[in-house]
Formats: sequence, structure tokens, C-alpha cells
Amino acid sequence: MTIFVTGGAGYIGSHTIVELLENGQQVVVLDNLSNSSKEALRRVEVITSKSVTFYQGDVLDPIILNKIFSEHDITSVIHFAGLKSVGESVVQPLRYYENNVTGTVVLCQAMAKANVKNLVFSSSATVYGDPASLPILESFPTDTTNPYGQSKLMVEHVLTDLAASDSSWNIAVLRYFNPVGAHASGTIGEDPNDIPNNLMPFIAQVAVGKRDKLNVFGSDYDTHDGTGVRDYIHVVDLAIGHLKALDKLATNPGLVTYNIGTGVGYSVLDMVKAFEKACGKSIAYQIVDRRPGDIAACYANPKKAKSELGWAAIHTIDDMAQSSWLWQSNNPNGYEG
Ligand code: NAD
Ligand code: UDP
Repeated sequence: MTIFVTGGAGYIGSHTIVELLENGQQVVVLDNLSNSSKEALRRVEVITSKSVTFYQGDVLDPIILNKIFSEHDITSVIHFAGLKSVGESVVQPLRYYENNVTGTVVLCQAMAKANVKNLVFSSSATVYGDPASLPILESFPTDTTNPYGQSKLMVEHVLTDLAASDSSWNIAVLRYFNPVGAHASGTIGEDPNDIPNNLMPFIAQVAVGKRDKLNVFGSDYDTHDGTGVRDYIHVVDLAIGHLKALDKLATNPGLVTYNIGTGVGYSVLDMVKAFEKACGKSIAYQIVDRRPGDIAACYANPKKAKSELGWAAIHTIDDMAQSSWLWQSNNPNGYEG
């Protein structure tokens, strides 16, 4: 089986490719390297002792897509390629809609032309907005407040209409909660280009001495310690979820949607404490105002994925912190070093 992975040089893509290769799959990657490095794929090859076929190019380019589908016997596509910064999406909405929405439409057109109709799509828990209750079920209403979230929701609608129009499409929409951590080798991990927006890479950069202190955005939320609560999921568990989703697509389910989370919520300060334990240092932090647009708490009910995919997260908060620290301490400058 050859799996075509868009955005495969990125954080979640590179970890998923390790699991695919170790599971005996062939992998072809398309990435424009706008937020990643080819070095990640080289390291994937070292971890697995297997090779990855790489095309540098854009999902918006039908020519390269047609070339890839004609040169390989592809059975399924995992579509990670996308832009993911909420703040940037507010400033550059057209870029986000073009890349994330048009990019997916162009990809699906090329898939239809090649008669490859199995797709796993990276969606996000952000499509639930501020949920009325917790934990979040897949049936909860969707509602987003920023162009990034809108782009994910728009793609979900496109894919729903596509599957309704032609029953030979099989599509797994995976709504990720908060991916963190790194591969146990410490050789691949999350490598933000700029100042990290997300909590875990920021904590890791404070621990390694690249940043002075963490700003904790708000301590007056209605949560167990007043700081924001999220469902952090180890990236290797998330990666394995994609393999389970591919197995599901082989049963011709049509379009299916799953929460990919642990079902457990941890606060910002819980994550700080876990990281301090992992790295043996204290993490300097200060409480500052809430970040506009943040919600108090968000965590999944992951039972549907367990019953229908046979998937559940197994890594603990300590595994997340330890693997994140191993990656960051071995690679203080990410792939550039
Ligand atoms: P990432 O930025 O590390 O990986 C995305 C990859 O896609 C990068 O390698 C980038 O160079 C590539 N890319 C972007 N636009 C492209 C295009 N037009 N053509 C070809 N390649 C392109 O991000 P990630 O964390 O690995 O996220 C993967 C997917 O999961 C994204 O779609 C993201 O929106 C989604 N997601 C991520 C999170 C998270 O917190 N990391 C949460 C929910 C959903
Ligand atoms: N957070 C924080 N300081 C930071 C980054 C994030 O306190 O520098 C908090 C944020 O307010 C939220 C949690 O950490 O409660 C997770 O934020 P992240 O941006 O990682 O994920 P998201 O908000 O998209 O769920």
C-alpha cells in the first residue's frame, strides 16, 4: 500500500510517517516546506531504516498532484498540509482560506481524477468553539470565531458534500485536541519557526534557556487552579490514530468524524509542573491577562474513536513532558542545529 501524505515534513506528519513505515506502508510526501524542514524526513528515514519519496511542491498545484498520482499506486491520502496559526489567520485570512480550503479542493479534484477516494483529514477541536458542556462529543454543534477555525470547518463541509455526492468516497475527519510531545528517539519533534504560540513548545524553550519566562494567560478561569484546561495528546498516539483511521476507510464507511483526544483535561500549571519534573529545573512564569479568544476548558469524549477505530491514547502527561524535553534539549535550535 502506498499512502500519499501532504504536509508530511511537518510536526504531526513526520511522526505519522514513522508509524506508517514501521507498519510496512510505502509513503510518498508532498510538502512545500513553508513550515518545515527536509531534515525531518531524513531523520524519519534514520529512525525507521526505510525511505520516503519526497516531492517539494504545493497542494494548490494540480500539475504536481497529477504527476504524483500517475507515478505511484496510491490507495489513500492523509492530508496534513495546512497553515495553523490562529493569530496569523486573523491578519491574513485570504492566505488561510486559499491554502487550507482551496488546497483541499484542488487535492480532492486530483484524487477524483486518479480515482483515489480514501482521505484522512486533519481537523481540529477548534471547530467546537466554546462548548456548552464537557467532555465534547462529535455530535456537539460547531462554531468557530477565527479564520483558521473557519477554514477547518469549511473543509469539513466540503468533504461532507463530496461524500454525499458520491458514495465511493471514504473520508475520516479527525478532530485533534492539543498535540504535544515527540518521538521517543528525541530526533524529531515540534520546531516552531518563530516565537511559539502554543504552550508546550514555549515551556520547552524556557526550560532550555531560549526564553526567560512563560506568560500564563489568565488565572481566573473556572477551572481547578484558575488556568486554562486542555486535552493534551501525545503526538505518537495521534499518529497511530491515523493508521486506525486508514483501517476504517478500508471498510467503506463513507464520511466519519472522530475526536482524537485523551478525555483528560490538564491546566497550564499542571503542564508546567510535569515539565519541571521531566527536566529537573524550575520553569519561570508570570500570570498575565487572559489571551483574547481563549476558552476556559476543552477536552474530548474519545469513546467513539475507541469503539469504532479501536484507538485510545496510552501515553501519560509525564511521557508528553519527557519526550518534549528530550527533543528540545537534544535540538535546542530545532532542525537548524
Ligand atoms: P506543521 O506546520 O508542522 O505541518 C504542516 C505541513 O504542511 C508543513 O510541513 C508545511 O510546510 C506544509 N504545508 C502547508 N501548506 C502547504 C501547501 N499549500 N502545500 C504543501 N505543503 C504545505 O503543522 P502540524 O502541527 O503538523 O499540523 C498538521 C495539520 O494538523 C494541519 O492541517 C493543522 O492545521 C492540523 N492541526 C494541528 C494542530 C496542532 O496543534 N499542531 C491541532 C489541530 C489540527
Ligand atoms: N497558554 C499560556 N501561555 C502561552 C501559551 C498558551 O498560558 O504562552 C495557555 C492558553 O491560554 C491555553 C493553553 O495554554 O489555556 C493551551 O494553549 P495553546 O495555544 O497551546 O492551545 P489552544 O489554545 O489552541 O488550545
